[in-house]
Amino acid sequence: MQGNFPFDQFLKPDNINVNNFNSLDKSISTQHQPERNTLMDSVFSNEELDMMNSEIHKSLRLLINPEKYSAFFEGIFKLENIKNNKAIFSTSTNFIKSIIEKNLTQISSSIVNTLGKQYDIEITTKNSNINGLESLNPATGPIEPSYKPANAAEVSFSLELEPKKYDLLSRVESKYIDHINPIQNGILIDRSKTFTNFVVGPSNNLANAASIAIAKHPGKAGKYPSLYIHSNSGLGKTHLLHAIANGIKDNFPHYVICLVTARDFMREMINAFKDNDIQSFRTKYSEKVDILMIDDVHELSGKDGTQREFFHIFNELYNKGKQLIFTSDKTPEEIQGIEDRIRTRLQWGLVVDIQRPDFETRLAIIKSKAEELDLFLSDDIINVISCNIKTSIRELEGALIKLSAFSDIMKVDIDVEMVKDVLALKEHEDDRRVTLEHVAKTTSQYFRIPVADLKSKSRTKDIANARFIAMYLSRKIVNATHEEIGRFYGNRDHSSVVHAEQKIVSRLTTDVGLSKDIMTIENTL
Ligand code: ADP
Ligand code: MG
Repeated sequence: MQGNFPFDQFLKPDNINVNNFNSLDKSISTQHQPERNTLMDSVFSNEELDMMNSEIHKSLRLLINPEKYSAFFEGIFKLENIKNNKAIFSTSTNFIKSIIEKNLTQISSSIVNTLGKQYDIEITTKNSNINGLESLNPATGPIEPSYKPANAAEVSFSLELEPKKYDLLSRVESKYIDHINPIQNGILIDRSKTFTNFVVGPSNNLANAASIAIAKHPGKAGKYPSLYIHSNSGLGKTHLLHAIANGIKDNFPHYVICLVTARDFMREMINAFKDNDIQSFRTKYSEKVDILMIDDVHELSGKDGTQREFFHIFNELYNKGKQLIFTSDKTPEEIQGIEDRIRTRLQWGLVVDIQRPDFETRLAIIKSKAEELDLFLSDDIINVISCNIKTSIRELEGALIKLSAFSDIMKVDIDVEMVKDVLALKEHEDDRRVTLEHVAKTTSQYFRIPVADLKSKSRTKDIANARFIAMYLSRKIVNATHEEIGRFYGNRDHSSVVHAEQKIVSRLTTDVGLSKDIMTIENTL
């Protein structure tokens, strides 16, 4: 900065209570004033910084919404130093820092109000362990939250010690992190994951229907003695395995169900080898099990020994008409490092995928999870979350858990602004901002048919099909009127748009390929 530190303003009597600054006044005027132009390395005493801090806070309090101020600033945002034209603040965690950083304008104004000039703002954190999303990078490994609610007894700590605000916020983060990075030690059938609380939409209806069919008629008695479900992470594969297991437990209590991750399967096999007891391992899986579910089967990649055992177990169970179910984040063709004979077997049965949920399904999931958490969310809030978190239901759940913990622990009401802050959401990206042009362009790219053809009079089957889909999506996503859409697609009458829409809606009930096409286009928009 090289500029002058505006002591005059900082000490301006009508700005602040002069009495508070007697000592500051003295120390500044006697010690620092001669060095005004060389403030570069100036370090104020703690007392001086505390006073400036408290003045900055007085101003901030007026500029920031009171709930937000009390949750994220009061007592946890502190001026640490003024140095090299920088006002250096500290806070407790990166999570809080990320929220504070959204208010740089207000902080900057408060600094100007208090110190009379602008400073660059630097915010440091004291405890970067509890840092929200960035610590979730699997590469960095699991993090150990500083607060882990372990048992009810812990509540007693509040009797003696008033928990600090950042402790409370760390609790919010811990709950979120525990959800996103669950500790998995083998799989016990989770009674809470059922078909009833699995929200169904176009993205998962096939996987859901096949799973229900298996729960009703497992093994050779049913249509799908082998099922393979694949999807990106967090879209419900494991939930469906539990739902099937629960369904079978209820309908056929005598069936032996084995739900295991590929990793645990492998570990068990290795231990069996070590203990010279591979025979019991084989007997357990190939003779005792009626329903074998292996979660994340892609983990067998490159594990030749395990694949060999798996191959034999698969054959035995398949020949006996037992039920086999696998999940994976890849299709059987995509899994590298597995033997072809295994790949072929994985492909033997029904192979279904789960796609990212569309807007409506996300809305329904948020509503259902919010209800489970006893969390009241206005339609605006549900919309903001649904427009921003699109790729994983686990993240969607994590967001609600975080909001619920935040509202419980911090005792504040949740509003849209708070939601954006707590979840670090971008500005509201309203799905409806998609235009007719977007839909036409995306559909045209997907089907490799020029937009001009979509707008033309051509009735060629492929072109008409793409046009119908584009019209349907223009209604669904852009919410345009039949007239507008008709005009856009070559000045057609509104009745042809009504016809296109009806046609697609009716085909969607039976045509899986169509529902996939539509979902892929929607997800690209
Ligand atoms: P995956 O195994 O595909 O990684 P999970 O089955 O673990 O995903 O799902 C992640 C979280 O999202 C789970 O808590 C699950 O209950 C929830 N979930 C996924 N899909 C749905 C759905 N359609 N309806 C309700 N909850 C869902
Ligand atoms: Mg899973």
